[in-house]
Amino acid sequence: MKLTFAGTGSAFCMAADNFQSNMVLEVEQPGSDQPARLLIDCGSDARHSLRNLGHMPNDFDAVYISHLHSDHIGGLEWMAFANYFIFEGHRVKLLAVHELIDPLWEHSLRGGLEISDKGNSCLSSYFDVQSLTPKDGFDWQEMHFDVIPVEHVVTTQNTMMSYALFGHGKNKSFFLTTDAIFNRDAHMPLYRKADIIFQDCELGPRHSGVHAHYEQLVTLPAEIKAKMWLYHYQAYAKPDAVADGFCGFIEPGQSFDLG
Ligand SMILES: [Zn+2]
Ligand SMILES: [Zn+2]
Repeated sequence: MKLTFAGTGSAFCMAADNFQSNMVLEVEQPGSDQPARLLIDCGSDARHSLRNLGHMPNDFDAVYISHLHSDHIGGLEWMAFANYFIFEGHRVKLLAVHELIDPLWEHSLRGGLEISDKGNSCLSSYFDVQSLTPKDGFDWQEMHFDVIPVEHVVTTQNTMMSYALFGHGKNKSFFLTTDAIFNRDAHMPLYRKADIIFQDCELGPRHSGVHAHYEQLVTLPAEIKAKMWLYHYQAYAKPDAVADGFCGFIEPGQSFDLG
């Protein structure tokens, strides 16, 4: 099982050599020369970042959506239309928690996808929609994923959650934070349990309060930082993460063998 970062940039990252933080999880399939592929988030960069890795939209059998910011869902209209019109109606499973599915359609995708050659369409005209709950998580290719609600944008009126993943591989487990505030107490049990941590990490002078900032992450215990890789960063000069005890910053296109 291999996890590849199509990009490692933040939502607004404009680096010429990076894309938004979407990932491809691949598993070899017995009797097939094509691995099964799960796309984790599909941002507005996805058609470029995936092409860069040599993938077409019909190379995926599933896409997982963590939350509704466009660096995580902005490529779904492209994926839907490209598969529907160009790739002979190839259907991708759309995996997302129940709470996201109606708003994904009503507030994000309906404007572009509703009217097509078949008249009025809906999300299931394009995708095999699988509604998830954090309680049950989901299975994909013999791997179980816990779905973990994490606070992402917290205001006095309301809170936007993201749905992080904790993957139980054959030999290795991993915690993928998606987009989350720095929440040492809430995340510590997951940090401790995981063999490898993929952590969103903000850089630069501005602390947005919606992502963990490097200056916060550097205060974590050494044994946590020693299994933590950093991604979802802006195009500022990077600190020496290895000297600070982390595994490092993930480079765009970098892969991890998850056993
Ligand atoms: Zn993001
Ligand atoms: Zn976000």
